[in-house]
Amino acid sequence: MPLTVMLGKKPATTFSITPRILATGIGIVLIFSRWAQAQAVPDAHMATDPKIASALKEISAERIRANIEKLVSFGTRLTLSAQDPSSIAAGHGIGAAREWIRSEFERYAKDCRGCLEVKTDAFTEGPADRIPQPIQISNVYATLKGTDPEGAKRIVLVTGHYDSRNGNTFDTKGDAPGANDDASGTAVSLECARVLSKLKFPATIIFLTVAGEEQGLNGSQHFAKMARAQGWDVEAALNNDIVGGNKNPEQDFGVVRVFSEGVPGAADDKQLRQIRSLGGESDSNSRELARYIADVGRAYQTQVKPLLIFRLDRYLRGGDHYSFNQQGFAAVRFTEYREDFNHQHQNIRIENDIEYGDLPKFVNFEYVANVARVNAATLASLASAPAPPSNVRLDTSKLDNDTTIVWEPVPGASGYEVVWRATSSTEWEHAQDVGNVPRATLKVSKDNVIFAVRAVDNEGHRSLPVVPVPER
Ligand SMILES: [Zn+2]
Repeated sequence: MPLTVMLGKKPATTFSITPRILATGIGIVLIFSRWAQAQAVPDAHMATDPKIASALKEISAERIRANIEKLVSFGTRLTLSAQDPSSIAAGHGIGAAREWIRSEFERYAKDCRGCLEVKTDAFTEGPADRIPQPIQISNVYATLKGTDPEGAKRIVLVTGHYDSRNGNTFDTKGDAPGANDDASGTAVSLECARVLSKLKFPATIIFLTVAGEEQGLNGSQHFAKMARAQGWDVEAALNNDIVGGNKNPEQDFGVVRVFSEGVPGAADDKQLRQIRSLGGESDSNSRELARYIADVGRAYQTQVKPLLIFRLDRYLRGGDHYSFNQQGFAAVRFTEYREDFNHQHQNIRIENDIEYGDLPKFVNFEYVANVARVNAATLASLASAPAPPSNVRLDTSKLDNDTTIVWEPVPGASGYEVVWRATSSTEWEHAQDVGNVPRATLKVSKDNVIFAVRAVDNEGHRSLPVVPVPER
């Protein structure tokens, strides 16, 4: 027979105390009064970690500028461009870019006495629409392994695509500087690696750069499939593509768009039926990740604010996060607020006084650094946090206006929070600390709100929230 702890014995209307949970242990049911309905918890959002805050200051716009200019110096990074030894030696083509990225990761690895493991995921892609003959595609990545043996199995990753293109996806020779698309995203991954490799985290962080994006997301597809096939627990994939903050009068340097899919592309029929019946269209794992990013932005008061866009991607456009979504992983896309299509996928030229081409002079390096800070803070927060609670279920065994949620404890958690929001709200509005327990009952009707549970550690690091599935 579970022990019931009654909290808040005063009438709901006169409540002034914050119910802190005194009891811990398995089998304890917590009953919250109408307090829970009436009041948003002031600290619903995550606390900041001073170690993470000081790491963000290390992110350097100057480094990012140097890295973007270096990537541009290879002339073209078209996936179909040269990768033979003499072109690599001459510093021209995608092979030279690949080798440089690898050497850069290796330099960071040396600086942290081998804390990063640098690897290449190379494969041959057969002919396709934008691939006339079989071609070798190489993803380059550095892994900062988690310090906790169990926790290290959890992976968060950041990626950008280092390939580029001009007006013609088959032009292997012509310049394709790709300063914004996507040397900027590659530079974010590199700079996060340089700065975060100076810290230690219980979970693993992967700093990835992929190729083949412009030919059909080939690199990310290969990597995400490999992750799925090898059973990797990828909790979050942050894709940065076109985060250069192109300098145009309509640009907003104060925000970065964060695109996330609603109904998961990887959902099976049973999951789709459940989404339809319970109103789960805005609670994919990617959407929870997007909300987490918005929360990180507020907690660390990043100069660039995440602007959540509740759709997979821009009209008729795609990106590498989609490859991770297809494998069922939570993944989002970061993109500058307002793109300039004269500076994307264009041959460098001047026509009618308009300058075309994706050149470094249109990139705002401070902006890229600020986007990198949002990424680094998200990676570091997730890699510091406990795993999300597992097997989260909502008790529907009887018709009832209360809500009982149960879950399985996770290692490293010192407590759990139940969060909720109105079904029509975009972000979590309430959070209730329920203590170190595997279940909670709230006097808030499950029919009126959306609930989730997240794990918290001693230092206040929060996991991603998990929306419960109904259980009879
Ligand atoms: Zn791109």
